[in-house]
Amino acid sequence: MADVSGPATPMNPPPVPLRRKMIAGGCTLMLLPVVPRLAQAATIVAVRTWPADEYTRVTLEMDTELKAEHFTLDSPHRLVVDIEGIQLSAAINDLVAKIKPNDPYISTVRVGQNRPNVVRLVFDLKQDIAPQVFTLKPIGEYKYRLVLDLYPKVAQDPLMALLKDAENDPLAGVLESLAQNSPSEAPIPSVEGQKLPPVARKPDDAPATPPRTAPSRPNRPILIALDPGHGGEDPGAIGKRGTREKDVVLQIAQRLKKMIDAQPNMRAYLTRDRDYFVPLNVRVQKARRVQADLFISIHADAWIKPSARGSSVWALSQHGATSSAARWLAKKENDADLIGGVNLSAHNAQVAKVLLDLSTGAQINDSIRVGTQVLNEIGKINKLHKNRIERAGFAVLKAPDIPSILVETAFISNPQEERLLRTSAHQERIANAVLSGVQDYFSAHPALARRA
Ligand SMILES: [Zn+2]
Repeated sequence: MADVSGPATPMNPPPVPLRRKMIAGGCTLMLLPVVPRLAQAATIVAVRTWPADEYTRVTLEMDTELKAEHFTLDSPHRLVVDIEGIQLSAAINDLVAKIKPNDPYISTVRVGQNRPNVVRLVFDLKQDIAPQVFTLKPIGEYKYRLVLDLYPKVAQDPLMALLKDAENDPLAGVLESLAQNSPSEAPIPSVEGQKLPPVARKPDDAPATPPRTAPSRPNRPILIALDPGHGGEDPGAIGKRGTREKDVVLQIAQRLKKMIDAQPNMRAYLTRDRDYFVPLNVRVQKARRVQADLFISIHADAWIKPSARGSSVWALSQHGATSSAARWLAKKENDADLIGGVNLSAHNAQVAKVLLDLSTGAQINDSIRVGTQVLNEIGKINKLHKNRIERAGFAVLKAPDIPSILVETAFISNPQEERLLRTSAHQERIANAVLSGVQDYFSAHPALARRA
């Protein structure tokens, strides 16, 4: 067990209550058998970590809801979390080994029994953070979860991530001018306690105040936001052979991004580029922030009967779903936030409200156009589940100003399609079909790509 006393005094509890508690504890131990006391202690079922540039998440899953208190310390930066009602155990000690050397936020963690019945976690940090600590009630396969989200003190701007990705790109200059004209109505996704990054620096010869008229973007590439569904705590659907939706859809999105980036006039942006969870409305906010011309959410379907198969393409419906199966599917996909885990108290309620029900008829019409083209192309490489685009109230399709579709690439619950989804050849075929559909759409509607 690591030493948890640490270098700073605030990490040690005040001496008087500690002594009193120790005495009380000692008496208890002398008077009562040990067994009932141990039986009362909560059990840690699992410990998981999800490191990512955007934020690192640590999840402690347990059989009871536990109270946790946290505070941060400076020089050096630390996050201290006291969990009440548990004893040290092998499961919680596992956390030490689960911190990866490349974690952007955590360098090490120390675990110790701070007081009787209180376990203290001390995270030694690589940078200052804006932590979010919250609990989640049991859902799906999960029991109670205590979630520690370590966000950077200054929120990451998706536009800057896009520019960094495009460093050696001949179109970098065009993308940069986009950053300088970024609209104020698409705020940078951030959580409570985070500062917003400083405004992008203008080149020296730029006018002091750029005109706030609708930006004309003559040489701007068509920017496509690719949204691999699920991630992190949310595995999505799981096939018979254990294939996880979150993994195959990320692989397909990465293949598609490569294909799009190889086009002279197109670039792709991923709403997540590794295995961590992104809340549904953050995915939408990211796409708006980078001023995407199109939003494509990539998923794999599942049904109780293993015989269900085929691809489908979805657009938003504001007024009910096209079938009861459609309603069921939208609910399942929208549950991602519950399973992935969102801190509802801190979760940008005002942004969610702005997005809600703002979607316009024009957005939906364009979504149906592009979705139909994509469906046509996918129909050449896979059986279609339905011959026409379907509609339901998917939360992730609610960007009011970006045509948005959701592609259910295949049924992961169908053994044959699960096998296909795992192969690079089939992943390439799907990515290629989506790209062809997108190209068909933009060549038929060139004006749409240039609409400010
Ligand atoms: Zn899904």
